[in-house]
Amino acid sequence: MDRFDIVIVGAGHAGCEAALACARMGQRTLLLTLNLDAIALMPCNPAIGGTGKGHLVREIDALGGEMGRAIDDTFIQSRMLNTGKGPAVHSLRAQADKRAYQQRMKKALFAEPNLEVRQGECGSILTEAGAVTGVLTTTGAQIACRAVVVCSGVYMDSRIIIGECSWQGGPQGLLSSSHLAGALHGLGISLRRFKTGTPPRVDEASIDFDEMEPQPGDGTITPFSFLTDGPMANRAQCYLTYTNEETHRIIRENIHRAPMYAGTIHGTGARYCPSIEDKIMRFADKDRHQLFLEPEGLDTNEWYVQGLSTSMPEDVQIAMLHTIPGLRRARVLRLAYAIEYECIDPLQLRADLSLRAVRGLYFAGQINGTSGYEEAGAQGILAGINAARFVQGRESIILGRDQAYIGVLVDDLTTKGTNEPYRMMTSRCEYRLLLRQDNADLRLTEIGHAVGLASDARVERMRQKRADTAEAIARLKKTWLPKSEARDAWLAARGQAEAAGSICAADLLRRPGMAYADLAGIDPGFLPLPPAVREQVDISLRYEGYIDKERRQVEAFRRAEEQLLPQGFDYMTLDGLRIEARQKLTAHQPRSLGEAGRISGVSPGDISVLMVWLEKLARERKPQ
Ligand SMILES: Cc1cc2nc3c(=O)[nH]c(=O)nc-3n(C[C@H](O)[C@H](O)[C@H](O)COP(=O)(O)OP(=O)(O)OC[C@H]3O[C@@H](n4cnc5c(N)ncnc54)[C@H](O)[C@@H]3O)c2cc1C
Repeated sequence: MDRFDIVIVGAGHAGCEAALACARMGQRTLLLTLNLDAIALMPCNPAIGGTGKGHLVREIDALGGEMGRAIDDTFIQSRMLNTGKGPAVHSLRAQADKRAYQQRMKKALFAEPNLEVRQGECGSILTEAGAVTGVLTTTGAQIACRAVVVCSGVYMDSRIIIGECSWQGGPQGLLSSSHLAGALHGLGISLRRFKTGTPPRVDEASIDFDEMEPQPGDGTITPFSFLTDGPMANRAQCYLTYTNEETHRIIRENIHRAPMYAGTIHGTGARYCPSIEDKIMRFADKDRHQLFLEPEGLDTNEWYVQGLSTSMPEDVQIAMLHTIPGLRRARVLRLAYAIEYECIDPLQLRADLSLRAVRGLYFAGQINGTSGYEEAGAQGILAGINAARFVQGRESIILGRDQAYIGVLVDDLTTKGTNEPYRMMTSRCEYRLLLRQDNADLRLTEIGHAVGLASDARVERMRQKRADTAEAIARLKKTWLPKSEARDAWLAARGQAEAAGSICAADLLRRPGMAYADLAGIDPGFLPLPPAVREQVDISLRYEGYIDKERRQVEAFRRAEEQLLPQGFDYMTLDGLRIEARQKLTAHQPRSLGEAGRISGVSPGDISVLMVWLEKLARERKPQ
């Protein structure tokens, strides 16, 4: 019998990060997946990042993960989104060459010592006395291991739906996984059915690009990875077009044939990724909807029609396409479709992504009810780290809502749960001015290094950035620019108000429109700084007041998180709590008062009861 420390089920975006994390932390790891040609497949949009999602990719990178480096090596266009707003919501988004991205990730997997990659279907998880002992493949192989991370994505009992047609199958004509859902159910794990959808792919040769608005990438490109140096260039362009009344008429006239409206789709879809028929019906007042044409890669004719996700019948898909400027003679290479699949209820998981009911069993990615490559990768790296620490007999790593978007994501899933595919957004994060994408390394690389995942080179680079930033800010706070004609002319040239006396250079950078680079002409001690350090200096000074305010909020949050609750306690016996709270607390066993407060159905009144009870416990423990 084959024997490994850890088995990862599924080589999607979650499985790849989990497998690399386990192997890099020294565990003998097997990555078992349905199809080697579908490793790191992007079955939907050919892009990594976006609002909130870019933060997750940078956090994966800061911990020592692979996604950020893989997209830096294979991107074809990059844009920083929301630059008109504050740095808390600046988010990177890069168009990927899908095939190149897969190849790049495969290369990293096959080059990793301690990691074996194998094609095969996991049929069930083997357990003994409530703990994992191995997996059984559908071809009869029994593989022994001490921990399993299930990252089966959208494949469990998945069904493809296009109009009146539907069949058991995975994305892009791949097989679905047909045994694992039943096996998980057999372990007492509750499952539910979600759905997602994707738009058609059309042939480049049949697109009229001059009828659409070019959407070029940024002039100066910011990499996703904190380790990426060197020039980066856009190699492709996207295009913007719109639906119109004619498109909407075709959809309305055929809405009875839309599976979502005909009742042939049972899975719950994502509110934030609606199908075009959903948009037409929900926003009937809108006379047009944006569509972006995105190339799927440099060596392919396939173009992705972002915004036209649908499960309408084939004839309707083609008819609606041919009403859209730029697509009037479009040839469909792949039809749009919806996919339904089984996933688990994440309320069954702890904050380290382990299942409460079975020791050594972890879940990551779409199977936990999320949607998105980035959300999957984020859970994958955390589950991988914790599966490795489980095997090492070490404590789990829990990332708090005050430390990382990954912490917000996992805490939302495991304390609030989700009734539809969960997508990360900056609005989900309370402390987004502290948890920016530009400082993910300052927040997380020490943790990645401490667990043996982030390299020495990476942590050295981060420490240098931190030291350079602190040194520059300290110098600026001690630098005074005395009143002079030259100084006031310099201020006037930048539309800045004059000042009676000396000005502190740090105060200058707190003014809107001022940046460190501007000081070159007036600051006697000016030193050129690397872009990443300059960015930290500018943000830390301009938003100092807000950052301090958020830090105080985090202190209050941490105080509640540090008030730990006993594990395995029967809250049904605790008087003063409402019934619903007793049931939810007993089932969920929150780690802390803070976590208890985030469970839906636990009221502030219940929290007060818990606080009084904790004080009583503390008094009883005190030696008389
Ligand atoms: C049609 C479609 C549309 C989508 N639309 C969007 C969207 O609009 N926005 C968005 O953010 N995301 C979208 N997604 C979701 C996105 O693709 C996923 O979020 C992401 O790929 C999830 O990553 P994952 O690693 O969890 O799972 P996947 O990427 O699904 O990978 C799962 C892996 O597990 C393997 N596997 C499954 N079962 C087994 C088994 N029993 N044994 C061995 N291997 C197994 C599979 O072969 C696969 O490699 C869409 C996905 C699809 C299919």
